Amino acid sequence: MNFPKDLIKGNVVLGEKLGRHTSFRIGGPAAVWAQPRDVKELKRIVVFAQEERIPVFVIGGGTNVLVRDEGFNGIVIHLGSSAFKNIRISGTTVRAGAGYGVPALVRLCCDKGLSGLESLVGIPGTVGGAVCMNAGGWSSPLYRNIGDYVTGLKVMDNKGDIRTLRKRALSFGYRCSNLSSYIILEADLKLSQEESSALKSRCLKFLKMKGDKQVLDGSSAGCVFKNPKDFQFTTGQMIDMLGLKGRVMGGAQVSRKHANFIVNRDRASCKDVLKLVDMIKKEVMDNYNISLELEIKVV
Ligand SMILES: Cc1cc2nc3c(=O)[nH]c(=O)nc-3n(C[C@H](O)[C@H](O)[C@H](O)COP(=O)(O)OP(=O)(O)OC[C@H]3O[C@@H](n4cnc5c(N)ncnc54)[C@H](O)[C@@H]3O)c2cc1C
Repeated sequence: MNFPKDLIKGNVVLGEKLGRHTSFRIGGPAAVWAQPRDVKELKRIVVFAQEERIPVFVIGGGTNVLVRDEGFNGIVIHLGSSAFKNIRISGTTVRAGAGYGVPALVRLCCDKGLSGLESLVGIPGTVGGAVCMNAGGWSSPLYRNIGDYVTGLKVMDNKGDIRTLRKRALSFGYRCSNLSSYIILEADLKLSQEESSALKSRCLKFLKMKGDKQVLDGSSAGCVFKNPKDFQFTTGQMIDMLGLKGRVMGGAQVSRKHANFIVNRDRASCKDVLKLVDMIKKEVMDNYNISLELEIKVV
């Protein structure tokens, strides 16, 4: 691909290894890795890609993606520059840039006595990724997803035009949204007031519960599969009951701690992970007649 050198002043790397930018530590090179310095530069990239019919992938923290070993033959856009990391609090409304980190956002809201995002404690990644994925806590009614608090978004469409999407135009589901054709630039979140100390102790409680069950320190991308709807077992429970915890393919392993996590144990390839994925899907289908759906995005 012929990416014009002077298109943007922001960082551009040809052949950047995407494994450096994913929590799985897996993934081949991107033809182009681009970090626009601001919205104008982002628009230039989007318009160029549209005119040249080059595929684009927006990566946030890379904590929910599995990149193929062949890499991505297109432009990977990373909103890592300061222009995309703004944060503004006005009363109980928070406006957060897409590149702002979710852990930092949760901490800030707790400090400021703003309640709502405690279910997101311990979830890595960025605001853009969290909104796109509707990230959040588990299925219990106690836990919330970020979409519950989004009142509006500033996005860029695939022509490079900026649009404001109000709440009624947004649709959030279980780890999904209707935003896949947009680049999220910033999100407005409506929170409520609560004592900072109460929020902090709730976060500590949630973090402990999460840490007891999940692998927070290994190289993974969180839960690999969604839980089935209206079924007596979670996906993790099914995989566990099938005795698949600890199962290895190459460098990838079904976590011994949480069966719905696959960890990169030793220089795993994307193929290793996908072999485990296929094996788990087959076993669950054969034994429970359930077709598992991936939660992670394979790029
Ligand atoms: C240890 C661990 C624990 C986790 N626990 C949880 C959990 O409890 N609950 C949960 O929901 N998730 C969890 N996850 C998964 C993941 O952290 C979340 O889905 C997170 O919100 C993804 O954010 P990201 O910035 O890393 O997005 P990425 O992984 O970079 O991208 C995810 C998707 O969002 C899109 N995207 C990213 N930024 C933008 C943007 N600006 N505009 C448009 N699209 C964009 C990407 O194109 C991709 O389709 C966990 C992951 C790990 C590694």
